[in-house]
Amino acid sequence: MVGAFLLSLVPFFWQDIDSVSILEGCRKCDFRGVVVCKNHPKELVEMESQVEFCSVAAQCEDCFGSFLLACAKCEGGPQTDSMLKRREVIAQHAQEASALEKFLESSLIRVQTAHIHVSGNLEEVRNKKKRISGHAFMHHVARDGERVATLVNAHFGAKPKHYRSPMFLWFWEDLETHRNVIGHFLGSGTAGDFKWLGKDPRFSVHCGDETFGFDAVTLHTLGVHNVGHMLVSNLFTEVWIGDMGGGWFDSGSAHWYEEAVFQKVRHHCIDEIAYSANYSNGLWRAALRKHLARNDDSVILPSLVRKLTGSMSALEHALSWSFYDWLVNQHPSKLAPILKGLKKRTPERDLFSEYLEMNFRQTEEAWRDWVGENYPKKEPSRRR
Ligand SMILES: [Zn+2]
Ligand SMILES: [Zn+2]
Ligand SMILES: [Zn+2]
Ligand SMILES: [Zn+2]
Repeated sequence: MVGAFLLSLVPFFWQDIDSVSILEGCRKCDFRGVVVCKNHPKELVEMESQVEFCSVAAQCEDCFGSFLLACAKCEGGPQTDSMLKRREVIAQHAQEASALEKFLESSLIRVQTAHIHVSGNLEEVRNKKKRISGHAFMHHVARDGERVATLVNAHFGAKPKHYRSPMFLWFWEDLETHRNVIGHFLGSGTAGDFKWLGKDPRFSVHCGDETFGFDAVTLHTLGVHNVGHMLVSNLFTEVWIGDMGGGWFDSGSAHWYEEAVFQKVRHHCIDEIAYSANYSNGLWRAALRKHLARNDDSVILPSLVRKLTGSMSALEHALSWSFYDWLVNQHPSKLAPILKGLKKRTPERDLFSEYLEMNFRQTEEAWRDWVGENYPKKEPSRRR
């Protein structure tokens, strides 16, 4: 009995060793067992490798969106297994239609990263004379949206578990689909762009609207600006503070992340269509330094912190951005407790005294002093 049992184990044992030793790859594949799929536009390959799923890449009949093919010269190598697993994950994503696709009964371009799900039927946008496919455009938004997520996560010590939902951004070729979708998912009937913040953050835009005119830069920066709003609104507790007294934090942070990525602010937090005026052409440091120095006898914070995001003037948006800029630079570890406090409607007076150990007057003085020391007298000239 014992002998038979031992014998039956032997073949399994050898089989294991055998299959491991076979998968060594060859010279042709650099001993990886896999080679790169050449079917994809070069300029997209890097961005494709940074996303969790892209519905366009997934349609590749050779690599199924994994960007890797089995090496034709050998039986496989150390990376064969991860390629197959990646293909399985992609196939799973491709199979499951999104809620949006089910509602519209058609398939959409979908680009998904850890924090951001970009989708829509956008065909093409333009940057001056250059044409950019809707697919590439969505990758640009996903990539820069993730840059914002990296900054937000660092500022707030946030982990994936601190978000309740991915941020959904929808870019439409036609007004009809945009209207249809926001009517169904957001309970609104607005024309240009629309966002829903807090729980299940969503943003939808008709890219051909008069204001946007399929302009790549405007739509790209608009999307990334809104990723900032969405992440902060969904973080820790699903509550949008912009309409309950934390407007300065909501607006200040969205502008801050937009400026951090693009070095310029192009968007305002209220209906972007009705309100296109911008403070100092979106270059705010020197202008605010001058403004604060000229108005050194007026007190700003007590009234600024009572404003709702949608009712701020262009100047107030810029001031909110600067105040947030000061917090990021001087009190980064206090961003999380202040945001949590605002989501619980704790008054700023209490939050500042508890976390900054300053009253309103001292906070304002510290912020103004910092602006005077750190913002330039003149905006540096830049090549664009
Ligand atoms: Zn090989
Ligand atoms: Zn793609
Ligand atoms: Zn391919
Ligand atoms: Zn905004």
